[in-house]
Amino acid sequence: ANSMRLDKFISKATELSRKEAKKILHASEVTVNDAVIKDPGLHVDIANDEVMWMGEPLSVATGNRYILLHKPEGFECTLKPKEYPIVTELIAVPELGSLRIAGRLDVDTTGALIISDDGSWLHRVTSPKHAHPKVYELTLADPMDAAKQEDVIKQVAQGILLDGDYEPTKPAHIEFIDETHARLTLEQGKYHQVKRMMGYFGNKVVALHRASIGEITLEGLDKGDSRFLTKEEIAQF
Ligand code: URA
Repeated sequence: ANSMRLDKFISKATELSRKEAKKILHASEVTVNDAVIKDPGLHVDIANDEVMWMGEPLSVATGNRYILLHKPEGFECTLKPKEYPIVTELIAVPELGSLRIAGRLDVDTTGALIISDDGSWLHRVTSPKHAHPKVYELTLADPMDAAKQEDVIKQVAQGILLDGDYEPTKPAHIEFIDETHARLTLEQGKYHQVKRMMGYFGNKVVALHRASIGEITLEGLDKGDSRFLTKEEIAQF
Protein backbone atom coordinates (compact mmCIF):
# COMPACT_ATOMS: atom_id res chain seq x y z
CA ALA A 1 0.00 0.00 0.00
CA ASN A 2 3.05 2.26 0.08
CA SER A 3 3.38 2.37 -3.67
CA MET A 4 0.86 3.17 -6.40
CA ARG A 5 0.68 3.98 -10.10
CA LEU A 6 1.61 7.56 -10.94
CA ASP A 7 -1.70 8.38 -12.66
CA LYS A 8 -3.61 7.13 -9.62
CA PHE A 9 -1.31 9.09 -7.29
CA ILE A 10 -1.92 12.32 -9.26
CA SER A 11 -5.65 11.73 -9.31
CA LYS A 12 -5.73 11.13 -5.53
CA ALA A 13 -3.56 14.16 -4.79
CA THR A 14 -5.56 16.52 -7.03
CA GLU A 15 -9.11 16.80 -8.30
CA LEU A 16 -8.07 15.42 -11.67
CA SER A 17 -9.52 12.26 -13.21
CA ARG A 18 -7.18 9.46 -14.27
CA LYS A 19 -7.63 10.59 -17.88
CA GLU A 20 -6.70 14.18 -17.01
CA ALA A 21 -3.75 12.90 -15.00
CA LYS A 22 -2.47 11.09 -18.11
CA LYS A 23 -2.80 14.35 -20.06
CA ILE A 24 -0.60 16.37 -17.71
CA LEU A 25 1.92 13.53 -17.76
CA HIS A 26 1.92 13.56 -21.57
CA ALA A 27 2.44 17.35 -21.48
CA SER A 28 5.65 16.82 -19.40
CA GLU A 29 4.22 18.79 -16.47
CA VAL A 30 5.10 16.18 -13.84
CA THR A 31 8.43 15.30 -12.25
CA VAL A 32 9.26 12.44 -9.91
CA ASN A 33 12.41 13.06 -7.90
CA ASP A 34 13.28 15.88 -10.31
CA ALA A 35 12.99 13.82 -13.51
CA VAL A 36 10.19 14.47 -16.00
CA ILE A 37 8.03 11.34 -16.13
CA LYS A 38 5.42 10.63 -18.81
CA ASP A 39 4.65 7.01 -17.93
CA PRO A 40 1.31 6.79 -16.04
CA GLY A 41 2.13 3.23 -14.99
CA LEU A 42 5.32 4.14 -13.09
CA HIS A 43 5.00 3.06 -9.46
CA VAL A 44 5.77 5.74 -6.89
CA ASP A 45 6.52 5.29 -3.21
CA ILE A 46 3.91 7.55 -1.60
CA ALA A 47 6.00 8.27 1.48
CA ASN A 48 9.39 8.85 -0.10
CA ASP A 49 9.17 9.85 -3.77
CA GLU A 50 8.81 13.55 -4.49
CA VAL A 51 6.13 14.14 -7.09
CA MET A 52 5.74 17.68 -8.46
CA TRP A 53 3.18 19.17 -10.86
CA MET A 54 4.43 22.37 -12.48
CA GLY A 55 6.82 22.85 -9.59
CA GLU A 56 4.25 22.25 -6.82
CA PRO A 57 4.63 19.18 -4.59
CA LEU A 58 1.80 16.63 -4.65
CA SER A 59 1.07 14.27 -1.79
CA VAL A 60 -1.53 11.76 -0.67
CA ALA A 61 -2.38 10.86 2.90
CA THR A 62 0.10 8.34 4.25
CA GLY A 63 -1.69 7.46 7.49
CA ASN A 64 -1.05 9.06 10.86
CA ARG A 65 2.41 10.04 12.03
CA TYR A 66 3.58 9.61 15.64
CA ILE A 67 6.85 11.36 16.39
CA LEU A 68 9.16 11.88 19.36
CA LEU A 69 11.36 14.98 19.21
CA HIS A 70 14.23 15.82 21.55
CA LYS A 71 13.43 19.51 21.77
CA PRO A 72 16.37 21.91 22.04
CA GLU A 73 16.21 25.38 23.62
CA GLY A 74 15.16 28.27 21.40
CA PHE A 75 12.12 26.73 19.68
CA GLU A 76 8.43 27.49 20.26
CA CYS A 77 5.66 24.91 20.53
CA THR A 78 2.91 27.35 19.51
CA LEU A 79 1.26 27.14 16.10
CA LYS A 80 1.97 30.81 15.44
CA PRO A 81 5.44 31.36 16.85
CA LYS A 82 6.36 34.95 17.61
CA GLU A 83 10.04 35.20 18.43
CA TYR A 84 11.55 31.79 17.79
CA PRO A 85 11.22 29.14 15.08
CA ILE A 86 8.53 26.48 15.56
CA VAL A 87 9.66 23.03 16.72
CA THR A 88 8.19 21.26 13.69
CA GLU A 89 10.95 22.88 11.59
CA LEU A 90 13.22 20.28 13.16
CA ILE A 91 11.22 17.39 11.69
CA ALA A 92 11.70 16.14 8.14
CA VAL A 93 8.26 14.79 7.21
CA PRO A 94 5.74 16.06 4.63
CA GLU A 95 2.63 18.04 5.56
CA LEU A 96 4.05 19.66 8.70
CA GLY A 97 0.94 21.84 8.89
CA SER A 98 -1.25 18.94 10.00
CA LEU A 99 0.96 18.08 13.00
CA ARG A 100 0.00 19.03 16.57
CA ILE A 101 1.97 18.89 19.81
CA ALA A 102 0.95 17.04 22.97
CA GLY A 103 2.04 18.85 26.14
CA ARG A 104 3.98 21.91 25.08
CA LEU A 105 7.36 22.86 26.43
CA ASP A 106 8.53 26.43 27.02
CA VAL A 107 11.07 28.03 24.65
CA ASP A 108 13.86 27.50 27.21
CA THR A 109 12.80 23.94 28.16
CA THR A 110 14.40 20.91 26.50
CA GLY A 111 13.32 17.30 26.27
CA ALA A 112 10.70 14.82 25.14
CA LEU A 113 8.00 16.24 22.90
CA ILE A 114 5.29 14.14 21.27
CA ILE A 115 3.99 15.27 17.91
CA SER A 116 1.27 13.70 15.77
CA ASP A 117 -1.58 14.30 13.34
CA ASP A 118 -3.88 11.85 15.16
CA GLY A 119 -6.13 14.16 17.17
CA SER A 120 -7.90 11.65 19.41
CA TRP A 121 -4.63 9.89 20.23
CA LEU A 122 -3.03 13.25 21.16
CA HIS A 123 -5.95 13.90 23.43
CA ARG A 124 -5.33 10.65 25.27
CA VAL A 125 -1.64 11.50 25.69
CA THR A 126 -2.41 14.78 27.47
CA SER A 127 -5.67 13.95 29.26
CA PRO A 128 -5.18 13.88 33.05
CA LYS A 129 -7.86 11.16 33.11
CA HIS A 130 -5.33 8.72 31.71
CA ALA A 131 -2.53 9.87 34.05
CA HIS A 132 0.71 9.20 32.21
CA PRO A 133 3.69 10.26 34.32
CA LYS A 134 6.01 12.89 32.86
CA VAL A 135 9.44 13.19 34.44
CA TYR A 136 11.08 16.63 34.62
CA GLU A 137 14.68 17.26 35.59
CA LEU A 138 15.07 20.72 37.02
CA THR A 139 17.81 23.01 38.25
CA LEU A 140 17.00 25.56 40.96
CA ALA A 141 18.45 29.05 41.34
CA ASP A 142 18.68 28.79 45.16
CA PRO A 143 19.91 25.72 47.05
CA MET A 144 17.37 23.97 49.27
CA ASP A 145 18.73 22.43 52.48
CA ALA A 146 17.56 19.07 53.84
CA ALA A 147 14.76 20.54 55.97
CA LYS A 148 13.40 22.58 53.07
CA GLN A 149 13.62 19.57 50.74
CA GLU A 150 11.58 17.51 53.18
CA ASP A 151 8.91 20.21 53.34
CA VAL A 152 8.78 20.47 49.54
CA ILE A 153 8.54 16.67 49.13
CA LYS A 154 5.62 16.57 51.58
CA GLN A 155 3.69 19.48 50.07
CA VAL A 156 4.20 18.29 46.47
CA ALA A 157 2.89 14.86 47.50
CA GLN A 158 -0.24 16.48 48.95
CA GLY A 159 -0.81 19.02 46.17
CA ILE A 160 -0.33 22.79 46.33
CA LEU A 161 -2.64 25.63 45.31
CA LEU A 162 -0.87 27.70 42.67
CA ASP A 163 -1.54 31.40 42.16
CA GLY A 164 -4.65 31.96 40.08
CA ASP A 165 -5.81 28.31 40.22
CA TYR A 166 -9.01 26.98 41.81
CA GLU A 167 -7.77 23.48 42.44
CA PRO A 168 -4.51 22.30 43.98
CA THR A 169 -2.04 20.37 41.86
CA LYS A 170 -2.52 16.61 41.80
CA PRO A 171 -0.34 14.62 44.18
CA ALA A 172 3.12 14.40 42.62
CA HIS A 173 6.52 13.02 43.42
CA ILE A 174 9.73 15.03 43.79
CA GLU A 175 13.14 13.60 44.48
CA PHE A 176 16.21 15.71 45.20
CA ILE A 177 19.54 14.79 43.63
CA ASP A 178 21.35 17.56 45.49
CA GLU A 179 20.47 21.02 46.84
CA THR A 180 19.83 22.54 43.41
CA HIS A 181 18.81 19.52 41.32
CA ALA A 182 15.57 17.57 41.48
CA ARG A 183 13.43 15.14 39.51
CA LEU A 184 9.70 15.92 39.50
CA THR A 185 7.11 13.44 38.23
CA LEU A 186 3.75 14.93 37.20
CA GLU A 187 0.61 13.25 35.90
CA GLN A 188 -0.90 16.51 34.70
CA GLY A 189 0.30 19.48 32.67
CA LYS A 190 -0.90 22.88 33.77
CA TYR A 191 0.51 25.96 32.11
CA HIS A 192 4.15 26.44 33.25
CA GLN A 193 3.41 23.94 36.00
CA VAL A 194 6.96 23.04 37.03
CA LYS A 195 8.15 26.64 37.17
CA ARG A 196 5.05 27.75 39.06
CA MET A 197 5.39 24.92 41.57
CA MET A 198 8.96 25.90 42.36
CA GLY A 199 7.88 29.55 42.45
CA TYR A 200 5.37 28.54 45.13
CA PHE A 201 8.34 27.55 47.31
CA GLY A 202 10.07 30.89 46.66
CA ASN A 203 12.57 29.42 44.22
CA LYS A 204 13.23 29.71 40.51
CA VAL A 205 13.83 27.07 37.83
CA VAL A 206 16.91 27.99 35.80
CA ALA A 207 17.01 24.85 33.64
CA LEU A 208 14.24 22.40 32.79
CA HIS A 209 14.31 19.14 30.85
CA ARG A 210 11.54 16.58 30.28
CA ALA A 211 13.21 13.20 30.40
CA SER A 212 10.20 10.98 29.68
CA ILE A 213 6.48 10.77 28.92
CA GLY A 214 4.86 7.52 30.02
CA GLU A 215 7.17 4.75 28.87
CA ILE A 216 8.79 6.95 26.22
CA THR A 217 12.33 8.12 26.97
CA LEU A 218 14.91 10.08 24.99
CA GLU A 219 17.48 7.31 25.18
CA GLY A 220 19.69 7.35 22.09
CA LEU A 221 18.12 10.52 20.69
CA ASP A 222 20.37 13.60 20.47
CA LYS A 223 19.07 17.11 21.06
CA GLY A 224 17.28 18.31 17.92
CA ASP A 225 16.75 14.77 16.58
CA SER A 226 13.43 12.99 16.17
CA ARG A 227 12.16 9.49 15.45
CA PHE A 228 8.88 7.73 14.80
CA LEU A 229 7.33 6.04 17.82
CA THR A 230 7.12 2.25 17.84
CA LYS A 231 3.78 0.38 17.75
CA GLU A 232 4.19 -0.44 21.44
CA GLU A 233 4.89 3.20 22.35
CA ILE A 234 1.80 4.34 20.45
CA ALA A 235 -0.42 1.66 21.96
CA GLN A 236 0.25 2.66 25.60
CA PHE A 237 -1.95 5.79 25.28
N1 URA B 1 6.46 23.12 33.18
C1 URA B 1 7.02 24.31 32.88
O1 URA B 1 7.04 25.21 33.69
N2 URA B 1 7.54 24.48 31.67
C2 URA B 1 7.56 23.50 30.72
O2 URA B 1 8.08 23.72 29.63
C3 URA B 1 6.97 22.26 31.05
C4 URA B 1 6.43 22.11 32.29
